[in-house]
Amino acid sequence: KKKIGILTSGGDAPGMNAAIRSIVRTGIMEGLELFGIYDGYLGLCKNRIVKLNSDSVSNMINRGGTFLGSARFPEFNLVKNRLIAINNIKEKGIDYLVIIGGDGSYIGAKKLTESGIPCLTIPGTIDNDVVGTDYAIGYLTALETVVEAIDRLRDTSSSHQRISIVEVMGRSCGDLTLAASIAGGCEFIALPEIKYVKEDLLKHIKNRLSKGKKHAIIAITEHICNVENLARYIEKNTKRETRATILGHIQRGGKPIAYDRILASRMGSYAIDLITKGNVGKCIGIKNGKMVNYDISYALKNMKRPFKSDWFNLAKKLV
Ligand code: ADP
Repeated sequence: KKKIGILTSGGDAPGMNAAIRSIVRTGIMEGLELFGIYDGYLGLCKNRIVKLNSDSVSNMINRGGTFLGSARFPEFNLVKNRLIAINNIKEKGIDYLVIIGGDGSYIGAKKLTESGIPCLTIPGTIDNDVVGTDYAIGYLTALETVVEAIDRLRDTSSSHQRISIVEVMGRSCGDLTLAASIAGGCEFIALPEIKYVKEDLLKHIKNRLSKGKKHAIIAITEHICNVENLARYIEKNTKRETRATILGHIQRGGKPIAYDRILASRMGSYAIDLITKGNVGKCIGIKNGKMVNYDISYALKNMKRPFKSDWFNLAKKLV
């Protein structure tokens, strides 16, 4: 019986549980033995590995987060730690690993694959910054959460004729901010893919206010600037009350929307398909509605997430 280990790594994302459930259930149907590794690569080094059966994943389809836990464990880039992990994997007789996470987790998977532990990766991150896929698990759930937050800010901003700045997650990827801005009807968008000029933002907001706009919502991806300072700058120069809201980890939590549950179920089952065909060392994605896979090393080296410039142009037209 082939043995498969599953771990979730990096930032948790709604739908990770649905992916684990799918891997376990479809894997058991294929006669495989499944193991859960707790707390990502850290748990791999600490030997936190337990056998999973069909019941282990009962009542998981709608649960946010990841029941296996996740961890930031930068020390996994040290060879000595990876050797400990590899030793634990071999001792358990695990043949393949399925790793659910973002691009950082993919690098760990690539290194393990190169050291003789074949891995498959499934994209799970609300940032949607993973190569080789249109959507990562959790992204569309987080999008709903962000849009709901913007709707709420809109109610109170328009009642008080206030300017609201909302900071959205995404690291170096503006997908979440851009999509939420279109759906939330934001007046200004700052994305990591586009050069940010504070003075341009101010000019734009002043222009909108002079045309009679009662309020403004500015959506901005994290790490672009300090949004509290930006709020003070805008308030000083427009004489309008301006508040910054950092949505933070609220964006990560909550139960996955139906699409993410289905995506996760499809990707989990596809991972087992690939394993039974011996097609490993791959990252899994969805392209135009179909399951696809790419060589992990190839993808990390050669593929970039395309910037949705057509979406950005649309967003600018709609303000
Ligand atoms: P995400 O997977 O969401 O992008 P991180 O970037 O934090 O999140 O990566 C998750 C984990 O992947 C890290 O905590 C670390 O254990 C592992 N990892 C990241 N980069 C490397 C690397 N260069 N070598 C080995 N492991 C890595």
